[in-house]
Formats: sequence, C-alpha cells, structure tokens
Amino acid sequence: MRNSLSLVSALLLLFGSASAFLPLRPMWGSTSSSFPDDSPFSLHLRATLTQLQMSKEDPPKIIISGAPASGKGTQCEIIKEKFGVVHLSTGDMLRAAVAAGTEVGKLAKDFMDNGKLVPDNVIIGIVKDRLAEPDCIEKGWLLDGFPRTAAQAEALEEAGVKADCFLFLNVPDSVLVERVVGRRTDPQTGKIYHMTFSPPEDETILQRLEQRSDDTEEKVMVRLEQFHANEDAVKGKYADISVAIDGNRAPSDVSAAVLAAIAASKAKV
Ligand code: ADP
Repeated sequence: MRNSLSLVSALLLLFGSASAFLPLRPMWGSTSSSFPDDSPFSLHLRATLTQLQMSKEDPPKIIISGAPASGKGTQCEIIKEKFGVVHLSTGDMLRAAVAAGTEVGKLAKDFMDNGKLVPDNVIIGIVKDRLAEPDCIEKGWLLDGFPRTAAQAEALEEAGVKADCFLFLNVPDSVLVERVVGRRTDPQTGKIYHMTFSPPEDETILQRLEQRSDDTEEKVMVRLEQFHANEDAVKGKYADISVAIDGNRAPSDVSAAVLAAIAASKAKV
C-alpha cells in the first residue's frame, strides 16, 4: 500500500514538474485546487493526495548539496513550497546566531567572515537538536549546507538520521564566482538578485540591496577551496541515494530535475 502510494506520489510530482510547476502548492499541506474538474480521474487523484497527506509517518527527508551560489537557495524555496518540509539552512542559522550575538554566533563569526567552515563541534549539535524538533519530525526536512564534512555526515549517521535523497547541484567554478560577486539581497523581501543576470526592478529596491560580507571574489575563492576539499568525502557517504543535477541551466530546468529526483526517491522508500 505504502509503495503504491509512493509510486502515485512520484507520478503526480513528475506530472507537476513537466508542466514547469505552474502554481506551486505544498503536497503535504493542502488538498485544494490541484485538479480543477470533477472527473473520476481527478476525484481519484484527489483522494490519493488526501491519503498521502495523511501518511505523516513518512515525510520527505532531503539533503541538498553544492558549492556556494550553486543555486541551493532558489531550489530550496521551490522544494519547501511543493512538499511543505522544514527548510534548514545552516548558513542562515549561523547568520541569525551572529546577528543575535549568541555564544554560537560569537564562535562562528570569524570563521564565516573569512569564508572558512565553522568547526564541526559548533554546528553538529545545533543541527541534530533542530532535526529532533516536532515540526521536522512531522513535516520532514530539507537540509541545506549540511553535512559539509565527513565528520558532519558521520554525526548524522550516528544519530540515526537517514535521508531519502542527496541532491548535488553541479556548476563550474568560473560560473560560481560570477554568480557570487554579483549577488545581492533585498533585506525587506529576502529576494535574491544578481546585478547582471536578474537586476532589481527599480531604483528604490536597488538602493536598499545588501551584499553578503563573504560574497567577494577573495572570499569565494576560500569558500570554493573548502568546498572542494570536502566534496568527495561527503558525496562518498551518500553514494546510494545521490543524484547529480546540472545546476548550470535556467532555474526552472534545474527545478524540474530536482523535483523528479525527489519523486523518484519517495517511490523507492
Ligand atoms: P555558502 O554555501 O554560499 O558558503 P552558506 O550561507 O551556506 O553559504 O554558509 C555561509 C557560511 O556559514 C559558510 O561559509 C561557513 O562559514 C558557515 N557554514 C554554513 N554551514 C556550515 C557547515 N555545515 N559547517 C561549517 N560551516 C558552515
């Protein structure tokens, strides 16, 4: 029963991604308006969706990996929307800790400012605690930026945390550098722009855009170095659930591949 539900879920997701995700909606969150008519086929699909929504014992558990600016943030927004999972970005968690001046923030700040990885013992406990919270257990999770080292992957394993899939976004380093140095964020909306590829809509937004302190050419070189130094070790831990995705394409093409990979992994569970 569970397998057949998973298979239907996979087909539904593939169906959704093929139509370039017209209106995105959380599969685990709402039953409304997925299928406009009342034909037997639509009614059947609606019923299946309802059953899927009730199978809360098996929510999605996803790891997304890739170099700085490989597009993880953009894809995470879409995955979160589509599946209703809890998005855990260790970069965002650490930046919030720095801004709040917590002990963790004080420990992390210098490493982050220099493009270095925060020590494993600082980040591992935070992530493990967060994954044990009720919302992650109930809705499932999307780990973004963790694990980044073999020790972090081992810590998850020891804690009995298992993912359905490990998505890896492949983008050449030269493209990543270009993306990083032009990246800006609107502090009011959280929207991410690129000064060349997706500039702000008007002068007012342009004036308030912020650049991350580690988004400079010098610091991205260090971040890329750190990333590549750990890349094979981390990938090696997830060889059985790993899906490599070409991230050097239009975001909607990347999303189609990402959603198809998640759907296929749910069908296997
Ligand atoms: P990026 O992927 O572009 O490097 P993030 O926002 O994911 O950016 O992370 C920003 C910084 O936060 C990293 O450069 C690093 O200092 C720290 N960080 C985030 N996740 C981890 C992690 N899993 N282990 C160690 N440091 C981390």
